[in-house]
Amino acid sequence: MKYTQKSLAYAFDALEPYIDTKTMEVHYGKHHVAYINNVNTLMEKYPDLLEKSVESLLANLSRTPFDEKDKQAFINNAGGAVNHSLYWDIMAPKKEIDEVLVDELKKEFGSIDEFKKTFTQVAISRFGSGWAWLVRNTENKLEIYSLPNQDSPTGKGHKPIIGLDVWEHAYYLKYQNRRAEYIEAWWNVLKLI
Ligand code: MN
Repeated sequence: MKYTQKSLAYAFDALEPYIDTKTMEVHYGKHHVAYINNVNTLMEKYPDLLEKSVESLLANLSRTPFDEKDKQAFINNAGGAVNHSLYWDIMAPKKEIDEVLVDELKKEFGSIDEFKKTFTQVAISRFGSGWAWLVRNTENKLEIYSLPNQDSPTGKGHKPIIGLDVWEHAYYLKYQNRRAEYIEAWWNVLKLI
């Protein structure tokens, strides 16, 4: 299975001035790569799992042979691998509006502005490192919440649709401690809405 990093669909400087080039270089080139390398190293101990996807293993952790330590290492690193893959995918220098999603968000949250307000608040309020998520839950409904660290909604049986990385490494070089400014800027490069 070896998890591999998908190449970016845009250049490191393409999301300027909202996400700066240096952050993209380090975040994509170092942080994400480290999660991928760690999960691949861990999986060398479990060759029987190689035929399964990382996502399906995350969704069915209770059925995996990991010991407690390796289970947590898998949650952290496989989570880091898949979370960041989604994060790169949903950003772009130009909007590619998902009209179906926009309609559904309006129905669920009243308006896109209301959705953004709620999501922003959840992202700002995440204490320490983690992500804000828009997911499709097990009842097929859209839901907003945040999770700590690299915990993936996949682990709850939810399908992640929008993920916003609020680890400091995602914004510190440009925004320092101003997480709210990073989030405000990030809406400009979220291509879907
Ligand atoms: Mn990150």
